Amino acid sequence: EVGALADVVGADQTVTVADGSEVGYVNLDYAASAPALQYVADQIADALGQYASVHRGAGALSQITTARYESARETVRAFVRGRADDSVVFTRNTTDAINLAAHITPGEVVVLDIEHHANLVTWCAPRDGVARARVVAAAPTFAETFDALEAELSAAPAALLAVTAASNVTGEVLPIGRLASLAHRHGARILVDGAQLVPHRALSIVGSGVDYLVFSGHKLYAPFGAGVLVGRSDWLDAATPYLAGGGATAAVTLTDDGSSVDWYEGPARHEAGSPNVLGVLAIAAACDAIAEFGYEEIGWHEEALRARLVRGLDGIDGVRRLDIFGDVRDRVGIVTFVVESCRPRDVAEYLNDQHGIGVRDGKFCAHPLLTTLGHPEGAVRASFGLGTSTADIDRLIDALTGLRTKAGKS
Ligand code: PMP
Repeated sequence: EVGALADVVGADQTVTVADGSEVGYVNLDYAASAPALQYVADQIADALGQYASVHRGAGALSQITTARYESARETVRAFVRGRADDSVVFTRNTTDAINLAAHITPGEVVVLDIEHHANLVTWCAPRDGVARARVVAAAPTFAETFDALEAELSAAPAALLAVTAASNVTGEVLPIGRLASLAHRHGARILVDGAQLVPHRALSIVGSGVDYLVFSGHKLYAPFGAGVLVGRSDWLDAATPYLAGGGATAAVTLTDDGSSVDWYEGPARHEAGSPNVLGVLAIAAACDAIAEFGYEEIGWHEEALRARLVRGLDGIDGVRRLDIFGDVRDRVGIVTFVVESCRPRDVAEYLNDQHGIGVRDGKFCAHPLLTTLGHPEGAVRASFGLGTSTADIDRLIDALTGLRTKAGKS
């Protein structure tokens, strides 16, 4: 088990189930939003007791808050091994960060059809009236998919390859270093959607050759409302600001035909308005905590849980796990499955109502992928992390075994 620094808030909540008994709630929906670390909650409580505006005030509290906010950029940069001259831009979440990336990318973008909609429809939206996403269909193996990406990147120049580091549907981890080399070989940059990887595995921007990395605080044991884009500053500084407004402007003069604005360079250019200071400090606190206890601990903990869950599910007749690729072995704490003759929503409701187990059902904002997997109606996803115990996994397995036993009798 991981040490106290890895304790999450609310791990001992109870709920009342259908037979009237009160049971411990089992949260197996970490991939949607993970609970906050107790350490993060403590840091936020502390910051709440002492904050003022950032970047504007001359007062002591404003200066302290500004210093904390700016030092959060350095914490995040170090956490993901960013380059010294990368911009660290705080956003609302991963979706917002990818929309910012779409705003600054000067050309066509190659994407796979397995992506979360945030990294798919964002690129498919026309820019200046021109569609610019080139969507490559994933093949049954990653090796063939890699070749298909290579063919697409060689067919015509692309500005960017935008790819997930870990699937939010199956947890499969893609080889980011190889994909970065592929993109660079063909004169493209790479954007990595790290929303599902960063809570589980270390990702080094420098080590993997990543140009842009995006992720969300609320999947990384921090609360909602803040995310990040880390990456090369040239496109960011060349683009018009993502949001217009105060904080992004160095100088403004009104002219006869409107206004003349001198926008800042650096992250402030794309962070107009008062930022989510507490959300940003929460991300930095989560990075500090994870750096302290180490990703190895997370990896061991989750791998044991995953192996137990997979063994259990594979032993239940009529339960089938979903995978995208036949040749990817590396996975994070996400397992998605279907139960024969049961609608995903019915399974999820049964787990919640009868057993106090929270999972996610549906299409996981990845409709094209669910169609490719042969389940356009959706599936059930169990996802876990630091607050999950082997007892939680066993409760899920027992509950599903019970569901199948009932189905067999009816
Ligand atoms: N990408 C992936 C892989 C995700 O799993 C998610 C969240 N489900 C997102 C992007 C979007 O994240 P957010 O909702 O925080 O913007």
